[in-house]
Amino acid sequence: MRRHRNVKIVATLGPSSSDYDTIRALHEAGADVFRLNMSHGIHEEIAEKHRIIRQIEDELDSPISILADLQGPKLRVGVFANGEEELEEGAAFRLDLDEAEGDAGRVCLPHPEIFEALEPGATLLVNDGKIRLKVTDCGRDFAQTEVINGGTISNRKGVNVPDVVLPLAALSDKDRADLEFVCDLGVDWLALSFVQRPRDVEEARELAAGRAAILSKIEKPSAVEHFDAILAASDGVMVARGDLGVELPVQNVPPIQKRLVRRCRAAAKPVIVATQMLESMIESPMPTRAEVSDVATAIYEGADAIMLSAESAAGEYPVEAVTTMDNVAREVEDDPTYREVIEASRRAERNSVADGIVAAAREIAETTDIKAICCFTQSGTTALLTARERPRVPIIAMTNLRGTARRLALTWGVNCVMTGELERFKQAVLSAARAAREQGYAEPLDQIVVTAGVPFNVPGTTNILRVAPCQESLIYASEPG
Ligand code: PGA
Ligand code: MN
Repeated sequence: MRRHRNVKIVATLGPSSSDYDTIRALHEAGADVFRLNMSHGIHEEIAEKHRIIRQIEDELDSPISILADLQGPKLRVGVFANGEEELEEGAAFRLDLDEAEGDAGRVCLPHPEIFEALEPGATLLVNDGKIRLKVTDCGRDFAQTEVINGGTISNRKGVNVPDVVLPLAALSDKDRADLEFVCDLGVDWLALSFVQRPRDVEEARELAAGRAAILSKIEKPSAVEHFDAILAASDGVMVARGDLGVELPVQNVPPIQKRLVRRCRAAAKPVIVATQMLESMIESPMPTRAEVSDVATAIYEGADAIMLSAESAAGEYPVEAVTTMDNVAREVEDDPTYREVIEASRRAERNSVADGIVAAAREIAETTDIKAICCFTQSGTTALLTARERPRVPIIAMTNLRGTARRLALTWGVNCVMTGELERFKQAVLSAARAAREQGYAEPLDQIVVTAGVPFNVPGTTNILRVAPCQESLIYASEPG
């Protein structure tokens, strides 16, 4: 499905978006990638959403990416007898390992590792940092705290322990079971929560065994600290501003976002900016001006994708939220300042033939009247490198591998078209020209740039750049072989 923008939109699915009609409406409104949040929803519900997405993909014959977001060592309180309680400032509140339902004085915190690492004076944050508790006394199975900032605490709210390094494994037993389950279903991306070190990513990659690409969510101070090594170990990154803004002072988040987006682009790996982008649209059909500005900022920074969480998963206006992102994206990308900013921040290290070819493809496309850059790719690398150039003309990635096409749906500006097996370069030019015409990028008398690696089916061999016409008779007349 042709989009009139380059930045991609990730929509999280949940109770507000679990049926065929809504998921299809989200895709038609602009969602390129669907996120399945493994923190919520049982396996049957996840499988049902997965089935619906693949059905829509089939009906529209255009690749859709599915990103399964593993919960990771997310710390959560247990449940309350009344569902929720109000904590008053100055009150005492106890956390312990007792699985009994909680009340105004205590609740279960089913994570013995926390109690092992806690010390008096440490801070515990609950519910996105809204509730602040200070540890006054603690032991191996409890922590007595004083409420510093009060508020409503309810079932299974998240807990952050910013000033303690927790001896946690990257993947819990639940994560391992979920990983196996979603890889069996067939997802394109696995997002890892609370990554702390490159080893966490490597572990997940071993378990995924090539069945999905690995995306690291940056939401811990230690992930920011070890970012270069984590990026090197990952296929993509999410700037997970929710937990990041709890674990670090919120004002640290914007500069970190800018830095991470730049590094990812330089490494030609997709980066998602996530969380609270259109938060008010959970309840309102109109975003705030500040939210629109936040979405625009991520696009100006050159992010590959922007994400909706509760807005599309649990809000009242999921489709409107996607439409809002789509409208903002089109407007920003039309702004001459956007091109200036994007081009000024092109900082690719070029040291391979493929790097040179994609740069040349962009130069040719931008200095002559070329309608699209069509790149043949198997692993997806050539498409990623082409996207890193952020060309002004559309990128059409041609691949015979469905998994590659689906993964690339997360990458800036890449439109994927499936091809059959190719043997000769002339066939490639013919199929690229047909795709450009059929998808409405070019007319028969227009020209396109085609890049490919010959012989075909050998990964990492991009070695041809051709300027080709789009009309078949002209291709037959001009193309040898
Ligand atoms: P989450 O991750 O929604 O799974 O917590 C995103 C974030 O923390 O920003
Ligand atoms: Mn998070």
